[in-house]
Amino acid sequence: VRRGLFVTGTDTGVGKTVVSAALLHRFRGAAPLQYWKPVQTGIERDDDTREVRRLGRCRRTEVLDEGVRLRRPLSPHLSARLAGRRLDVDAIAAPVSRRGGALIAEGAGGVLVPLNESVLTVDLIRRLDLPALVVARSRLGTINHTLLTLEALRTRGVEVAAVVMTGPPNPENRAAIEHFGRVAVAAELPVLRPLTAASLGRWARTRLDPEGLLLRYLR
Ligand SMILES: [Mg+2]
Repeated sequence: VRRGLFVTGTDTGVGKTVVSAALLHRFRGAAPLQYWKPVQTGIERDDDTREVRRLGRCRRTEVLDEGVRLRRPLSPHLSARLAGRRLDVDAIAAPVSRRGGALIAEGAGGVLVPLNESVLTVDLIRRLDLPALVVARSRLGTINHTLLTLEALRTRGVEVAAVVMTGPPNPENRAAIEHFGRVAVAAELPVLRPLTAASLGRWARTRLDPEGLLLRYLR
């Protein structure tokens, strides 16, 4: 398994980008990290790479710019088709095939999001040989979504490193996910107001995986 984490989620908009930036704040002192967004859709309004650079206070070398960039905020298979392209997993993975550092790779949407007519995001995770970090909402509905995501990953042979929950902390949902999902919840990221590089960095350094469970995937 390659060093790094593939940051995936139970849904789109669950906070993968913020969690990715938080991982940089938390672990850059322990291992050289590089953030990478292999497939970005809706580039005319969403640019997770730029957002992580800002929220994570990243140096140039901590962010990889290579990746598929598609207009229209849709599933990658559809954004690509509408752009007259077909995504190929080997081509997507090529920019990182010979890189040595630990990757913080962020997916588009969840694990069963299609990349083309026959390949799903989980196939890209496998191709990259990265363990998954699952970002999940804290609110009602998350137990089902999170357990389904964990099952989809494990069924296909992807190791699950941990779950990070986002939103108002919910101890019962956290306990249920840890129990039924046989997984560690490495952090509960509350809504930060304001959400800035400073506030995120403060939270990450003290509250994101304080026991360092994720270190073994990064160095
Ligand atoms: Mg994102």
